[in-house]
Amino acid sequence: MSEIATTRNIGISAHIDSGKTTLTERILYYAGKIHKIEEVRGGGSGATMDHMELEKERGITITSAATTVHWKENKINIIDTPGHVDFTVEVERSLRVLDGAILVLCSVAGVQSQSITVDRQMKRYRVPRLVFINKMDRTGADPFKGVRELKEKLGLHPVLMQLPIGAEENFNGVIDLITMKAYYNDGDQGQTVREEEIPAELVEKAQEQREEMLEELSHFSDDLMEKVLEGEDVPEDLIHDTVTHGVRSLQMVPVYMGSAFKNKGVQKLLDAVNRYLPSPDEAEPQRATDLDSDTEVALEPDPSKPLVAMAFKITDEQFGQVTYTRIYQGVLRKGETIYNTRTGKKLRVGRLVRMHSDDKVNIDEAGAGDIIAMVGVDCASGDTFCQEPLNYACESIYVPEPVISLA
Ligand code: GDP
Repeated sequence: MSEIATTRNIGISAHIDSGKTTLTERILYYAGKIHKIEEVRGGGSGATMDHMELEKERGITITSAATTVHWKENKINIIDTPGHVDFTVEVERSLRVLDGAILVLCSVAGVQSQSITVDRQMKRYRVPRLVFINKMDRTGADPFKGVRELKEKLGLHPVLMQLPIGAEENFNGVIDLITMKAYYNDGDQGQTVREEEIPAELVEKAQEQREEMLEELSHFSDDLMEKVLEGEDVPEDLIHDTVTHGVRSLQMVPVYMGSAFKNKGVQKLLDAVNRYLPSPDEAEPQRATDLDSDTEVALEPDPSKPLVAMAFKITDEQFGQVTYTRIYQGVLRKGETIYNTRTGKKLRVGRLVRMHSDDKVNIDEAGAGDIIAMVGVDCASGDTFCQEPLNYACESIYVPEPVISLA
């Protein structure tokens, strides 16, 4: 498969304290980017350390502006999406570079104020998303409440894809309603996933819930609806295709569950990211303004086209400015000369890096759809880089209309 087909650019969004940091850390761990999970905080006891303290304690950067992990056949770039309440330029830029997202909810609190805000931002940027109901080990955990509130408070069409095995502190795995198998995590850090038959006492419930899942999904596929109505078997591939279509057309959100803290359910969520969230060439086409003709142009996520890339976040580090960049078309190569369309200046790409947690790996080039960082380039966040003769601006275009309240 081509590199672009196996790339995912995702964000993780949550109301504060739902477990976004813990989930991100587990993803880095399962993807082999950190080697041990330090339990520096008690589960659900409320955060007592802030992010910086936590990072110092662990000696790693949990989330830089973008970090790359590998999960099975895919490369997943995780972009830090600030959980700001307001629509700042910074939030908008981080949303623009995403092709998909995970919305994390707490199993007890359900949909909270910031879940509403981030969901509105995702809708505005047409970002397809999956939901992860975290903290399934907590007293009072109720995944059905989350599902209900996704419908009532966010107006989404949620479809529950799993059922919990055990409840609260005895939560110990998930039933996948597509494969109709039970999945448990083994190892003290949940490294391996074991597949088993569904426990006898849950078989009937799982069958009922599967029927419900199929009925919900039948809204998005005539083929599936016909099979359900005729009482025929529904092939797994047809279910997957229906979910893929529903997610990418923003018509539905599949709902997964687990406990990041107790190392449960995270790998199944990553499988769903790979399967259902779009690769850059399957995502909504990105647009830019052609500054010469003042017309809107569609960017093509194709490495053979001239380069168009946008700086979306800048950080200052000891060795110089780090410019996080999304490449929309073409290839960005070390040593090549590119053109900053805002300043009108040409510059040479000195050092290109891919961020892995706190590691920077030097690379020679990166192609359309990818997210990497340039080191030591003098520019501002929001700048567009092109290969001449293109003269495009990614920013100032494609900002959806603000929602105006007439109240
Ligand atoms: P964030 O603010 O969304 O980044 O949330 P954190 O990841 O910092 O988690 C907030 C608190 O919830 C911390 O005390 C975590 O240890 C705890 N926590 C995270 N995930 C879980 C979970 O699955 N179960 C329980 N019981 N606690 C969790």
